[in-house]
Amino acid sequence: MTFDVIVIGGGITGLVAAYRLTREGKRVLLIEKSPRLGGNISTLREAGYIFEEGPQTILANNPAVWELIEELKAPVEKASPSSQKRYIYKGGSLIPIPLKPQEFLTTPLVGIKSKLLLFGELFKKPLDVEDISVANFVREHFGEEFLTYFVQPFVSGIYAGDAEKLSLRYAFPKLWEIQRRYGSLLKAFIKEKRVAPKGELISFEGGLKTLIELLAEKIPNKELNTSAEVIEREGDLYRVLTDRGTFLGKRVIITTPAGETAKLLRKVFPPAEAFKEIHYPPVAVVSLAFPKIGLDGFGFLVPKVEGLKILGAIYVSSLFPNRCPAGEDCLSVFLCGDTQKEVCHQSEEEVLKTAVGEIRKVFPQIGEIKFQKLKLWKRSIPQYTVGYGRFYKLYEELKRRETNLEILSNFLGGSSLAKCIEKGLSLKG
Ligand SMILES: Cc1cc2nc3c(=O)[nH]c(=O)nc-3n(C[C@H](O)[C@H](O)[C@H](O)COP(=O)(O)OP(=O)(O)OC[C@H]3O[C@@H](n4cnc5c(N)ncnc54)[C@H](O)[C@@H]3O)c2cc1C
Repeated sequence: MTFDVIVIGGGITGLVAAYRLTREGKRVLLIEKSPRLGGNISTLREAGYIFEEGPQTILANNPAVWELIEELKAPVEKASPSSQKRYIYKGGSLIPIPLKPQEFLTTPLVGIKSKLLLFGELFKKPLDVEDISVANFVREHFGEEFLTYFVQPFVSGIYAGDAEKLSLRYAFPKLWEIQRRYGSLLKAFIKEKRVAPKGELISFEGGLKTLIELLAEKIPNKELNTSAEVIEREGDLYRVLTDRGTFLGKRVIITTPAGETAKLLRKVFPPAEAFKEIHYPPVAVVSLAFPKIGLDGFGFLVPKVEGLKILGAIYVSSLFPNRCPAGEDCLSVFLCGDTQKEVCHQSEEEVLKTAVGEIRKVFPQIGEIKFQKLKLWKRSIPQYTVGYGRFYKLYEELKRRETNLEILSNFLGGSSLAKCIEKGLSLKG
């Protein structure tokens, strides 16, 4: 049988792509290597808890997310309003991240010198470079302290990344465009009233897995436990060779991580080998529950200079109160990333111990741990590093040569769940 479309990879991107094209009336086959769908989305529903072991929430900042929700009638769960409150760990305490300009003037997170630098930022001109690291851009515009206490923790929180290596242009394209337009980010903020993307933080009743389950119901042809090995041309068609047989398709959509993508393309497009250079740091996510201590807010981030061996934590029981039994608080603790990779070189038992030990330094009042579980992502989120443009050029070359072969993976065009959904839903039949 020849399929209209073969989608490789059953994470959120592949599922949305397969759903979209099935809805268009195409005969679609979805191939997934593992026995379960969802990829990075991994909701733990166990012993009365609901924890996310991968992504925690969707920042619904594009219309595609809402379109999908409406079509699937997905039961949205919005993060509680207290999620506005976010903290940075400094000097042994949690300090609120300023949300308003007047709060910034009084925050102890940075000193008076850094605050004064803001006035100079207003006069910055657009950059005349091809690309720049996030760290160098921030240093130049706001100074070192700002980088240490706001930006690096934030970059760890989003990409598990290192601001010294990540590209402003490719990891934060909206900020890149803003600086190209205004030079100064503050000027843009004053003129446009915002710099950060607006959008609601959402999940679903039962966690992000609910979206995966709803999508899966709508895709009739799925091959799980099936590893795609290589793609070959057969006239106008593509042959996808897997460890469980060969499938023929008129069009192939790849949604796998960079290394797997390079492997799949080695016959039709050998230069794709370069995708193997894309770096994915390890991340450990520890789910923890303990008697209530009154967690309130979204969570906190830890600047590396503060010496804790965790990147930060999300207050699950405050964000989504029904995910944790009454009388308990729940946290998702993040470790490793590109700046603390060595933590993930320990045994899983040691990583768990590190997470609990470090959390007790932040909250000494925590009593007996009621639940703990570790999820280790050996290769977590692709790092859009300085010079990443060469991977986009490579993809453009592939598109010129193979019009019916597309890469929708999260190492191109953004890795947020909202972007993954947008990419999948924007496919035309
Ligand atoms: C720990 C963590 C926390 C995150 N937090 C957030 C967050 O809070 N908010 C947010 O917006 N984003 C977050 N992200 C990013 C986001 O989760 C991912 O970018 C997104 O889920 C990627 O989805 P995907 O379908 O593109 O790829 P994946 O989820 O990687 O799916 C790819 C699929 O391809 C399959 N596959 C691989 N090789 C083959 C093969 N040869 N044949 C067949 N199948 C194959 C894999 O098994 C997998 O199921 C986080 C990511 C991680 C790891």
